[in-house]
Amino acid sequence: MSPLRKRHQTTTSDLAPEVRKGRLRELRTELEQRSVDALLTLSLPHIRYLSGFSGSNGLCVVTGRRALIVTDGRYTEQVREESSGFAVRISRDSLVDELPKSSILSGISRIAIEHAVMPVAIFARLQKLFPRKKFVPSAGIVESLASVKHESEIAHIRAAAAITDAVFREMLDVVREGMTESEVAAELTYRQRRRGSEGDAFEPIVAAGEHAALPHAHASNRPLRNGDLVVLDFGCRVRGYHSDLTRTIALGRPSSELRKVYGVVRDAQQRALEHCAVALPARALDAVARTHIRRAGFGKFFPHSLGHGLGLQIHEEPRISARSTATLAAGNVVTIEPGVYVPGLGGVRIEDDVVLRTSGPEILTHAPKDLIVL
Ligand code: ZN
Ligand code: ZN
Repeated sequence: MSPLRKRHQTTTSDLAPEVRKGRLRELRTELEQRSVDALLTLSLPHIRYLSGFSGSNGLCVVTGRRALIVTDGRYTEQVREESSGFAVRISRDSLVDELPKSSILSGISRIAIEHAVMPVAIFARLQKLFPRKKFVPSAGIVESLASVKHESEIAHIRAAAAITDAVFREMLDVVREGMTESEVAAELTYRQRRRGSEGDAFEPIVAAGEHAALPHAHASNRPLRNGDLVVLDFGCRVRGYHSDLTRTIALGRPSSELRKVYGVVRDAQQRALEHCAVALPARALDAVARTHIRRAGFGKFFPHSLGHGLGLQIHEEPRISARSTATLAAGNVVTIEPGVYVPGLGGVRIEDDVVLRTSGPEILTHAPKDLIVL
């Protein structure tokens, strides 16, 4: 079968039962330490992390002994197939209104909720349905568990990164003067799907010329012109896991100022990769790249953090920023993506995906980093 035709299954859970049991065990230990009896989450990536369920509507409750997923009739079969070990309720109404029909919360008094992602209306409904229970705002419980990846998860990120890499190389024969940013973005999406991804990791960023000076510019109808630097920031999903790649390429020979910016960002990224190590505070890693860029005179043009965790979500823990309190741990998968954006002139960003290991970083991204002039 041609590699273009390879397909990844998307519905059957690929979590080994012992991996899922281990996650629930770790979650229960964490709940106990926080003196809460249960976690109630509506976060789909968290539900997928804990149970394997990949549907688009769900509520999950985990107590010391039991685990329940509530979803709707579209997922009756899928949820049972993906989430063995979880009790299942299919709701015809709103998901929280199904909870009083289950006994899962009887005897439970303190319930952790993810207040950062729970809609106010649902919180109000929960309080009305369960007036005697205490809902404890709890941030970061699942995030911190999910930040350390199992090898099977790393394999999915590696597979996604390989698709993204291959598409970057294909694009070197596709991108040409006169194409619009949107046309380039459409090619990125199409080519990653053809290579077997489940879809974009996020809406691809294609930013050319002065547009590249905006770190998160959306692809527009601006045509690519000779002399432009073009920032391509894109990724895809394999079994729910994301890749995230940025490369900056040139259309025709760029100005000496832009070549200088490119060299500074490239060196900053390389230094950060070399310093990437288990037990290093994330903010120290951010400082490695930031100091290099500042010394080159571009400090005020690097407005974002150095990187972020990557997994079932495109932005996860640990955050690699000047204010991060995280310490890098074995099994973290992070991006390293310094950028310099000079208003009116252009921008450069270079981003790789990296696994932290005690033996040293494993770089999942292999796309070339020397300035490519098309
Ligand atoms: Zn990116
Ligand atoms: Zn990123």
